[in-house]
Formats: sequence, C-alpha cells, structure tokens
Amino acid sequence: MSLSSRRPEKARIIARSPEAGQAAWQRAVADSVRDTSQLFDLLRLEPAGLAAATAAADRFACRLPRRLLDGIATGTAGDPVLRQFLPSGAELEAHEGYTTDPVGDLGAARGPGLLRKYAGRALLIATGACAVHCRYCFRRHFPYSDHQTGRDAWSAALAELSRATDVSEIILSGGDPLMLTDDRLAELWRGLAALPHLQRLRVHTRLPVVVPERLTAGLLELLGRPRFATSVVVHVNHPNELAADSVAALRRLGRSSITLLNQSVLLQGVNDDVGVLCDLSEHLFAAGVLPYYLHLLDPVAGAAHFAVGKQEAVALVRAMRSRLPGYLVPRLVRETAGAAAKEALAC
Ligand code: SF4
Repeated sequence: MSLSSRRPEKARIIARSPEAGQAAWQRAVADSVRDTSQLFDLLRLEPAGLAAATAAADRFACRLPRRLLDGIATGTAGDPVLRQFLPSGAELEAHEGYTTDPVGDLGAARGPGLLRKYAGRALLIATGACAVHCRYCFRRHFPYSDHQTGRDAWSAALAELSRATDVSEIILSGGDPLMLTDDRLAELWRGLAALPHLQRLRVHTRLPVVVPERLTAGLLELLGRPRFATSVVVHVNHPNELAADSVAALRRLGRSSITLLNQSVLLQGVNDDVGVLCDLSEHLFAAGVLPYYLHLLDPVAGAAHFAVGKQEAVALVRAMRSRLPGYLVPRLVRETAGAAAKEALAC
C-alpha cells in the first residue's frame, strides 16, 4: 500500500467552527465554504454538476474562504477563480502519467516534514493545513499524516538541519505555513534562527491574498526581523484574485523589508491567455510583487483537465515578452522528480 493511500485525503482537513477569542483571520478560515451543496447554492451553479463535485470533494475536500465568492460571477462554473477551487467530476478520471507524487516529494524526505531537493536549500512542511484547496495542487495526495507537524517533528527537523551545514536557505511550505498562529510561527522562527548557517528564509503562501486579515502586526514584525533575508512567495494565478484588500495586504508586506515574489501555475481555463497573463503581471507589480515563475502543471492525479501543453506555454510566454518589459515576464519552468533544479523552458 502506498503511503498516500492509507487514508482518504479528506481526512487531513480539520473542520473548525468559529470560536470566541480567535483572530479575524482564524474566523475567516473557520467560516470557509466546505460543503459542495452550499457552494452550488451560493453561486447558483447548475445542480447537474453537484453529484460529481461531491464525489471529487470526498477525495480532496472542498475549501475556499467566503470572501472569494464576492469576486466570482454567479452561475458561472468556468469563472477563472472558481475553477481553481470548484471540485469537479474531471478529477475522478485516471490519466496516464498523472501520479500521486508528481514531483518526487516522498523520495526527497529527510525525516518528518523535511525535504531536500536542491543544493543549499531545504523545505519544511510546517503544516498540512491550507485556507483554500486548489484542485490542481501537486500535494493533494501528500501523506501529511506521515509528516506530522508540531513541536516533536520540528525538533527532529531542526536537529537534521543543524547537521546540514550546506543549507543556507530554509523554505517554509505545506500546506500553507501561515496557517500556523503567530506564536507557533515565532517558536519555529526562533528554532531556525539559532542555526547560524541559515541565511535566507522563504515562505510559500496563498494566505495574504485569499485571507488578507492574516497579515497581523505580529506576523509582519516576525517576518521583517533582520536575522534572515526573507522572501515571501505568493501564489496568484489570475488578476481577479487581487481584490483591493489583498493588494493592500501585499503592500503592507512589501513595506517590511521582505522580497515579494509570485509563482503561478499555467492552468487551462484559468490563465492560458496572453491578455490574462499580462494583466496578472501588471497587477502584481503594482502591488509590489515580482512575477517570478510560471509553472507547467505538475502531473498530479486528478488534475489533468488543467494541463496546458509545453508548446502552447512557450508561445504564451513569447507573446508576453512582446508586450511587457522583461522584469514582468515570469520564467516558464517545469519540475521533474529527481532533477537537480527546475527546468527553465526556452522562450
Ligand atoms: S494553497 Fe498551496 S498547498 Fe494548499 S492546496 Fe493550494 S496549492 Fe496546495
């Protein structure tokens, strides 16, 4: 039995109810839409798709913060923001070459939650939780239960990192590391800061955009500390995700001596259009974020319907180059399991 088949993916999602004393961002996360019937009702989607959506959500749970619904056209299952989060029957189809571990995470594990893939860097799965469930997620099958997060796992990872003196950059990933509370992040930060060979801290997150309340004063203070050269990599695929409050949150982050980068995934029916990609780059830059990577879809089981071919991707990026200055054109890359680096595709 493979690691990922030990329990259904849905089991990793912990249902929460709003509680007194929670921060605004925690209430927003707890109030997410997690029920496909409710999502179909709220957005007045065609009921004919509900049964398949519910079956898909049984494999990988539905989750999106309620505020995202404001930017989604009702009755439009193909809305480019909704398409990223709406479970669909297409996820139930098997496709050759699409696997549960598309980028070789399992083979890169060096202890609970610690992955080593590339020279000088290590990645810590700080938590398995996310505020949104992206249907194309390359870790949608990741066995988070075998990579427990929390103090014990962090101790083991920090012990491993203390011996790995060739590592100068630690990447916090997940899940979404900003799903940890400020106190827990500060605890982890202190453990990392005590390792003198770590110079750079990188945080991969969707929270500043999907739940902008997450940027508490405490979080900004922590990430802005000078101990590390810190970068935050957000994950925005379509300009419609950049609502005014998300842009304001990104600008606040950018004022904290943090380098802000974006990585997108090229997704069929979401952003496979040169006009959309150019708009996205321009809106990101206006928010203080550099468009860094445009990824080809990782071939993860359940996401084949999002794939855009390599030739089409190259043509899109070439067309972007003819319209935008070079610094607004992201690098088109593909990740291959076991490779020493991401492959940059010539454009
Ligand atoms: S936020 Fe990131 S880790 Fe979470 S589901 Fe989306 S792509 Fe996957």
